[in-house]
Amino acid sequence: MSTITAPEEQRVLDAVPKQLYIGGEWREGSKGTLPVEDPATGETLVEVADASAGDAKSALDAAVEAGPEWAQCPPRERGEILRRAFDTIIERTDELALLMTLEMGKPIKESKAEIAYGAEFLRWFSEQAVRIDGRYAVAPNGQGRLLTMKQPVGPCLLITPWNFPLAMGTRKIGPAVAAGCTTVVKPAQQTPLSLLMLAKILEESGLPKGVLNLITASSASESTGPLISDPRLRKLSFTGSTEVGRKLMEQASQNLLRLSMELGGNAPFIVFEDADVDDAVRGALIAKMRNVGEACTAANRFHVAEPAAEQFAEKLAEKMGSLKVGRGTEDGVEVGPLINEEQREKVSALVDDAVGKGARALVGGHARDGAGYFYDPTVLADVPEGAELLREEIFGPVAPVKGFADEDEAIAAANDTEFGLVAYVYTSNLKRALRVVERLETGMVGLNQGMVSNPAAPFGGIKQSGFGREGGPEGIEEYLETKYVAVNL
Ligand code: NAP
Repeated sequence: MSTITAPEEQRVLDAVPKQLYIGGEWREGSKGTLPVEDPATGETLVEVADASAGDAKSALDAAVEAGPEWAQCPPRERGEILRRAFDTIIERTDELALLMTLEMGKPIKESKAEIAYGAEFLRWFSEQAVRIDGRYAVAPNGQGRLLTMKQPVGPCLLITPWNFPLAMGTRKIGPAVAAGCTTVVKPAQQTPLSLLMLAKILEESGLPKGVLNLITASSASESTGPLISDPRLRKLSFTGSTEVGRKLMEQASQNLLRLSMELGGNAPFIVFEDADVDDAVRGALIAKMRNVGEACTAANRFHVAEPAAEQFAEKLAEKMGSLKVGRGTEDGVEVGPLINEEQREKVSALVDDAVGKGARALVGGHARDGAGYFYDPTVLADVPEGAELLREEIFGPVAPVKGFADEDEAIAAANDTEFGLVAYVYTSNLKRALRVVERLETGMVGLNQGMVSNPAAPFGGIKQSGFGREGGPEGIEEYLETKYVAVNL
């Protein structure tokens, strides 16, 4: 790969529709426009439409109007629209990856990986659309029949975060469309461009007007609040912080909306003394550095058996220290900027707190001077119990390492968090592996591997990481209601 030129960047930005997509029409926002920034330079890339509460209501009107016809559309047709969109995304990977890097900052190679991952949700759910089924049973007393059918939930509001600009959208849009639901999509204001392109691709793939409506807005609460309290909405699927998730749940309680909540994480990465240390370090690098550490699944703290802790921390520091930091469009860059100054300040404060309480920075520990929101990959050894970053989601390229004495202590430390999204375990002992996996309080576990995300598997958390599952056979169930019919024979 060679460094990308400014005209190439401009071409990709010019191709993005910058308006609201409502009822199959592209239209201006009633509140004017809002800027989308390049986190590697701090400069504005483009302006996109800024939706008012009225625009959001028009989007829901369109979703409600399109609902009955879309629910009747043959599943095969629904699936084929998704499949065509998948093919287009894959064909246009280079362009879409550049767009993603410009708005979110991660290196092109990682954006390409997200394009593949994000597109796969459309292919997976194109295949699931034709597998929605029900049950037929004889009542226990033999008198009647019990018929169970699945039907689309109805109009859905889908709110997504900035960290995976495409995949967090396709993980919801894919199953909603496959199930026969109509949608209003609200991407994060920092990274709306990938989903605007997706809306255009779905339009070109034959998605009927009103099935997907997309609004971009400078005020998420002003635009989506009235939709959440509108009795025509049936479901809210949210990916983002636990703090906002709690607020939305409260609002959604008025309407008793169906909810899916994909919230924050604080993943432990446990390495036992019987693990292959080099293998664990390779996995740690993926679990920590994917998406510049800005992933809900990012390993947030490394619990390593005491005899191996020093060696593990040193090897990880060597790898992290050799990563090339820079703008994601530049050749060979492996670590991009953080999303904004606020995020960088949060990461800095967490590292300063840990170092102030006695942790040792083996590598990194500093923000970079100059334009953009860069922070050096950091490994902290001897992290004391009271350090804030053991409790809080770091969302940056920082790896705190802490030793443990035995299995019970490792499990207690891993579970000592309000979050429960994912955990990683490295061990070569099968009995221990299963014992530990069963005791971990998380929705997912990476066993001897540093990544769990897979469109064919149910992604999701427990505890304060939320509920509901995205991907796998479970993913479409979030968009289906069960209707039972008592049949008198
Ligand atoms: P966020 O601040 O909670 O925002 C997420 C989305 O919610 C954005 O679209 C945001 O809009 C919108 N929003 C914010 N306040 C709102 C309100 N009062 N009403 C309606 N919508 C509102 O989270 P983020 O900083 O973008 O994302 C990072 C967080 O997401 C991390 O905690 C991470 O762990 C979590 N995450 C979880 C998963 C998972 O699957 N569990 C996956 C990815 C990320 P604006 O852009 O306008 O603020």
